[in-house]
Amino acid sequence: MEKEFICIVCPKGCALKVTAVSESDVKTSDVTGHQCKRGASYAVNECINPVRMLTTTVRVTGSRQQLAPVKSSSPLPKALLHECMAAVNDCTAKTPLKVGDIIIKNILGTGIDIISTSNSSGAGR
Ligand code: SF4
Repeated sequence: MEKEFICIVCPKGCALKVTAVSESDVKTSDVTGHQCKRGASYAVNECINPVRMLTTTVRVTGSRQQLAPVKSSSPLPKALLHECMAAVNDCTAKTPLKVGDIIIKNILGTGIDIISTSNSSGAGR
């Protein structure tokens, strides 16, 4: 198999190419185009288990604000992002919220939490 990626680890955006027998057996030595080790690791992970941070908003009650910003505590499997978004969209958090408050614990059994990224006051209703 052959795959090409733009590395998103740093702003240089190196064009990476992976040439391997199978996607599940990719090694860093199968990667070309990287200018550093992080790019080779990124390409391997993109083949074996691509992940992304989820940053979005959640509906809140008890505040004049209707939405509060949240993110995943760690990158989530890319294949689960849509389901995770649906779970966040179904959720309503109660203010006040502090940075780091857990909004959804262990989302979809991933071991990763959805956490608040702002301080949202409960006042003002
Ligand atoms: S391979 Fe290294 S230098 Fe190139 S974009 Fe990725 S992290 Fe940056």
